Amino acid sequence: MDILIGLQWGDEGKGKFIDLISQEYDMIARFNGGANAGHSIYHNNQRVTLKILPSGIFYPHIKNIIGTGVVIEPSALKAEIDQLQSLISDADLRKRIIVSKKAHLVLPTYGYWDMYQEESALYRTIGTTKNGIAHTYSSKILRQNVRVEDMFSKDFNTDVFQIISRQYRELQYLGQKMPSLDELYGNFMRDCELLKQLHIADTEVLLNEALKNNKKVLAEGAQATMLDIDHGTYPYVTSSHTIAAAACVSLGVSPRLVDKIYGVTKAYCTRVGHGIFPTEIIGSLADDLRVRGAEFGSNTKRPRRIGWLDIPALKYAIMLNGVTHLILTKADILNGMAQIPVCTHYEINKQRSSLASLSSTTDEMKPIWKYLPGWDVPFAQISDATQLPNELTAFLSFIEQELDTPIKYLSTGPKREEMINLV
Ligand code: GDP
Repeated sequence: MDILIGLQWGDEGKGKFIDLISQEYDMIARFNGGANAGHSIYHNNQRVTLKILPSGIFYPHIKNIIGTGVVIEPSALKAEIDQLQSLISDADLRKRIIVSKKAHLVLPTYGYWDMYQEESALYRTIGTTKNGIAHTYSSKILRQNVRVEDMFSKDFNTDVFQIISRQYRELQYLGQKMPSLDELYGNFMRDCELLKQLHIADTEVLLNEALKNNKKVLAEGAQATMLDIDHGTYPYVTSSHTIAAAACVSLGVSPRLVDKIYGVTKAYCTRVGHGIFPTEIIGSLADDLRVRGAEFGSNTKRPRRIGWLDIPALKYAIMLNGVTHLILTKADILNGMAQIPVCTHYEINKQRSSLASLSSTTDEMKPIWKYLPGWDVPFAQISDATQLPNELTAFLSFIEQELDTPIKYLSTGPKREEMINLV
C-alpha cells in the first residue's frame, strides 16, 4: 500500500498529484476526516472538488474505499455523488464506492454543536468548518455514536432519535437556533436510505485481500501533518489523525504492508485560521502571493495566511510520516522574486534547532533565514527537468539536501499536465 499525505497545513495540491497517479491503482482509500477536505481534480478539463469521495471515482477500474477512520454525513455524501453523477451519463458511480461498516455517522445535531462551540464565548474558537466532524469524533471517543453498520439494526431509528433529541434539548437550552427536531430527524433518515444502497463491507478485509493478490492500493490523506490531532499545532488542528500511520489504523492494514509514502509540500506555506505560524509574511507581499496563488479556502473562501518555506517543520513532518518521495508544488507562484527566503533553523530559547514540531509559542521561536536566488520563467513552456532555470534547480537541490529526501515531482501550475517528473 502506498500512502499520500500533506506535509504542511493542507491545500498543498494533494488532489492534483493524486489525480496524476490514481490510474495506476486498483483501490483508493480515504482514511481520515469527513466532507471537509476538498481535493481538486480535473475531469474532462473541468475542475471538480471532491469532499469525501476518494480521487479514483472517475476511473471505472478503481474501487474507492471510504475507510473506517472517515466520518460520513449521509446528506453530504449523497450531494457529492449526485453532483459527480451529473457529469457522467454512462456509468453508475455508486458501483465504484465501498464504505466501511465501521465508519461513524455524522448526526444532524452535531453541526449545531460545532457551531455553538465555535461561536460561544465560553469555548475556544478553533476555526472549524462547523459541519459536525469534530463532534462526531468526540462522540466516537465517548462511545456514544452510531456507525454505518448500525443503519441495518432494528434499534437504529430509536438510537438516533434518542441521541439527537437529547442534544436538541441541550442546544435549545443554550439558545442555539436550529430547524425543528422532526425536520432534522426526517431528513437524516431519508439520506441514510441512499447510504444503505451503497456497497457496505469490512473494508479492512477487502483491502488486505487485495494486497495479498498484488493489487495496488493508495491510501489518500485529507488535511495535513501539521493539523494532526496529536502531532499538529494543537489546539488549532483537525479532529482526526492525518499522518501516514493513521492510514494503517483507519484502514486496518499492517504497517508492514506500506511501500511508498508520498509527501506533498508547497514551495511556501499557508494555513487557515488561528495557530502558530512563525514564517508568516505580513503585509502587501503576503496579499500579493495570496492572490497569485489563489490562496482562499476552497469551501469557505477565507483568505489563507501565507509564510515562507519552513524547513525545520518539514523535517519534522518527514520524520513523522517516513516520507520516501516528495512532491513540491506552486514554485510558479514565487516566479519573479529576486530572492526567496527559506527558514532553515529556529532559535528556540537561545538554542539553535534544525527540526521543529511548532508546539511552542511563536514568541520563543526566531526563524533563521537563508536567501536563495529566485527565478523568472514562462512555466507554461517548460515540459521537462532539463528546461528548468538554474536557480530553481539549485532551490530544489537545496531542499532535497536539507530534507534528505528526493523530490519526485515538481508541479508548475494548476493543470494536470503541469507536472515535471524529476527522478
Ligand atoms: P489539496 O487540499 O492539497 O488537495 O489541494 P488541492 O489539490 O485542492 O489544490 C489546491 C489548488 O492548488 C488547486 O486549485 C490546484 O489546482 C492548485 N495547484 C496545485 N498545484 C499547483 C501548482 O503547482 N501551481 C499552481 N499555480 N496551482 C497549483
